Amino acid sequence: MVKKESVEILKAKNIQVTPQRLAIFEQLMGRKDHPSAEMIFNDIKNDFPSLTLVTVYNTLQKLVSTDLCIKVNPLHTSARYDGNTEVHQHLVCNHCQKIIDMHDASVSVELPDLIYEKYKIVEQSVTFYGTCVECQETMRTSTIN
Ligand SMILES: [Zn+2]
Ligand SMILES: [Zn+2]
Repeated sequence: MVKKESVEILKAKNIQVTPQRLAIFEQLMGRKDHPSAEMIFNDIKNDFPSLTLVTVYNTLQKLVSTDLCIKVNPLHTSARYDGNTEVHQHLVCNHCQKIIDMHDASVSVELPDLIYEKYKIVEQSVTFYGTCVECQETMRTSTIN
């Protein structure tokens, strides 16, 4: 992503742009692996010696509250963040806990009207659980050995 665009996107959400925030935002937008705050921190800390994990957490929280990213937590461990805010489904690997985007699966879940009248539904997510390609490969080779 071009830096100038990122600056504009953050400014449009009234987020004060700092080099650190910009790096966190671009890091999240540039990757597809639904990173945790720790993963982002580890990848950019060398570029920003004064960066703290708290700053990364706070920035991600700000991005979530301004709808620039979504929090995905299908593993019920630490929060993972997703730069893709379009409605899409995830496949979670039961073995390595990788979260993979399933863009081709157009799954729509319709609840009875009564439910929509009763509750204020703000988000919908569909998660599939299974075994990723790499883990299937690992299992196949470990069976042979
Ligand atoms: Zn896996
Ligand atoms: Zn995703």
